Amino acid sequence: MAGEGATIEGLHVGTHYLNRAYFSLQQALGDNVVKNKILAKETSIRAGGPAAIFAVADSFDQLRAVLYSANEWGLPLFVIGKGSNLLVSDAGFQGIVVRLGKDFMLKRVDGNKIQAGAAVSLPLLVQTASKQGLDGMTFAVGIPGSLGGALAMNAGAHEHCIGDVVSSVMVFSKSCELKVLEARDLCFVYRNGNFDKDDIIVEATLALTPGEPEMIKRQLEEWFGKRKSNQPLQFPNAGSVFKNPKRTPAGLLIEKAGCKGMRSGDAEVSEKHANFIVNRGSARASDIHSLIKAVQIRVFEHTGIYLEPEIEFLGEFAEILIVPRKS
Ligand SMILES: Cc1cc2nc3c(=O)[nH]c(=O)nc-3n(C[C@H](O)[C@H](O)[C@H](O)COP(=O)(O)OP(=O)(O)OC[C@H]3O[C@@H](n4cnc5c(N)ncnc54)[C@H](O)[C@@H]3O)c2cc1C
Repeated sequence: MAGEGATIEGLHVGTHYLNRAYFSLQQALGDNVVKNKILAKETSIRAGGPAAIFAVADSFDQLRAVLYSANEWGLPLFVIGKGSNLLVSDAGFQGIVVRLGKDFMLKRVDGNKIQAGAAVSLPLLVQTASKQGLDGMTFAVGIPGSLGGALAMNAGAHEHCIGDVVSSVMVFSKSCELKVLEARDLCFVYRNGNFDKDDIIVEATLALTPGEPEMIKRQLEEWFGKRKSNQPLQFPNAGSVFKNPKRTPAGLLIEKAGCKGMRSGDAEVSEKHANFIVNRGSARASDIHSLIKAVQIRVFEHTGIYLEPEIEFLGEFAEILIVPRKS
C-alpha cells in the first residue's frame, strides 16, 4: 500500500518499492539492513552519498532474501566488497547495496589449496598463504579489498593476477541459483574477471604452489616496501584511477601531461603517484569525478590516448566520462 509506514527520505523515484523491500528485508535480516546508509565510509576514498538500502548478508539465506527482494520490487542491486576500487556519486544509489558478512568470511587450507568466502580480505589471504609456505599470492601484498572484489576486478600487480591462481569460483545467480565455475570456464583479463553482470561471487578456491618461506617473506617485504615508497597511502584513495594502456603506464602519461598536483575541490592528482587521486580532506565524489575527466582530457590532448578508468562508479554523475574503444 502506497504511503504505508516510514518513508526513505530524499528519494524521488520508486520510494514505494524501496519501502516495501526495506520492510521485507527487515523480517529476514533484522538490524543487518538500514536505510540511507552513507557510503563514503564504506569506500577507501571516503566520498559519496547514501545507499537507499544497505544490507549485510551474513548467510546464504540472507543473501537469498536480498536477491528475492531486489527481484520482487524491481530494484537495482549492487554488491560492495571493501569499496577500495569504487567511487559512489554524491547523490548515492537508489537501490540495494549488499555486502557479504559472517558466513562468507571463512577460509580453509587444504594442501596447496585455499578455499575462502568472498568476504575474506585479500591481505588475510596473502598472510595465510605465506604462513603455510604457499606461493602464488605474493603479488597481492598491499592490495586492499575482499576476495570477491579481487576476482571481479581480476586484481593484480607485478605481472601476476588473482586469475592466475583460481581453481574454481562459486557464484549466486540473479535467480538464486548456486553455480560452481571451474577455472576453464572463466575468462580473466586485465582488471576484469568477466563474470556475469548479475552474478554474486560467494566463494573461491585458489590453487597455490609450495614455496620457500624465507623467499616468500623477502618477496612480500620487497613489494610492500615498494608500495609504501611509491603510493600516497597517507591519504584516502581508490588505488590506480586508470588502467595502464598497452605500452606506457598510465601514471607516466599523466605525469608527462603535467597533471600532478591538479585539483578539484579537495581531490588532488597525487604528487607521489600520478595515477592516484587522493582525497585531501572533504573531497566530494563530483570533485573526484571532474578531476578524472580533466585528467582524461589533458592526457588525450598530449598523447592522443584516452585512458580507461579502472575505478568502478556507482550512481549518477553529472559529467560523462569518455569510454575508449577496446583495441
Ligand atoms: C591503496 C590501494 C592500492 C591498490 N592497489 C591495487 C593493485 O595493485 N592492483 C589492483 O588490481 N587493484 C588495486 N587496488 C584496487 C582494489 O583494491 C582492487 O580492485 C580490489 O580487488 C577491489 O576489491 P574490493 O573488495 O574493495 O571491491 P569493491 O571496490 O568493493 O568493488 C569493486 C567491484 O567488484 C565488485 N564486487 C565486489 N565484491 C563482489 C562479489 N562478491 N561478487 C561480485 N562482484 C563483486 C563490485 O560490485 C565492484 O564492481 C588498490 C586500491 C587501493 C586503495
